[in-house]
Amino acid sequence: MRITILGCGSSEGVPVLGYGWGDCDKNNPKNFRTRSSIIIKTEETSLLIDMSPDLRQQLLLYDSCNVDAVIFTHTHYDHVSGINELRSVFREQNKLLPVYGTLRDITEIKKKHAYLFERTGHKFYKPYLESHIIEDKFTIGDISGLCFDQNHGFSQSLGIRIGNFAYSTDVVSLSEDNFRFLYGVDTWIVDCVSIKNATQTHAHLDLVLEWEKEIKPRRVFLTHMGITMDYDTLLHILPENIKPSYDQMEITVDR
Ligand SMILES: [Zn+2]
Ligand SMILES: [Zn+2]
Repeated sequence: MRITILGCGSSEGVPVLGYGWGDCDKNNPKNFRTRSSIIIKTEETSLLIDMSPDLRQQLLLYDSCNVDAVIFTHTHYDHVSGINELRSVFREQNKLLPVYGTLRDITEIKKKHAYLFERTGHKFYKPYLESHIIEDKFTIGDISGLCFDQNHGFSQSLGIRIGNFAYSTDVVSLSEDNFRFLYGVDTWIVDCVSIKNATQTHAHLDLVLEWEKEIKPRRVFLTHMGITMDYDTLLHILPENIKPSYDQMEITVDR
């Protein structure tokens, strides 16, 4: 199973419009971060996780718009507002594209984007998405996985585990239940918005280091990184098994 990190930036990306690069060295291309999403590819299936506002550029760089299905982790702008870019995927594949989310999130996204799921106006405008409610597990093509609710401050996000791999974006604390889902994981991609500053909605580095000690994955990759997270500085200060991600980074995982 090959995982490509399409984007590993925080909600405003790096650099931040009107604010700049912060502590990130602008001469290192690995510090240029689009908004967070990944694509998981097996022999049979391409599964996109989240629809970043940068989805178009991400898929252009990935050099494929072959997507069989989408799971979105929650309805914050930086995870769903690329939904209209899926029109190109639909046109390429000429079949309704399945979009999976929790009941709460599917309900919200269908309210905001009804025209993508059902005909609401002139027949010229064809809906191209098909909604699927996800509860605690899913099978999409040859990919089967488990989902769990994560605390994202004033809201919740979906954590995803597929075999030895787990993806935990947009999370500020992990419950005992969450730990049970994560124990035994080999490769974990986890939210880490800043080096020092604890926030009410996202994990920072000290917290991720505590979680890593508890879960003991073989490898950890940081995502959803903001402007305090300079790539080379992180490589220097982090233990060998924890790495910052960068856009278009590829990770291979044995399932
Ligand atoms: Zn986010
Ligand atoms: Zn969020």
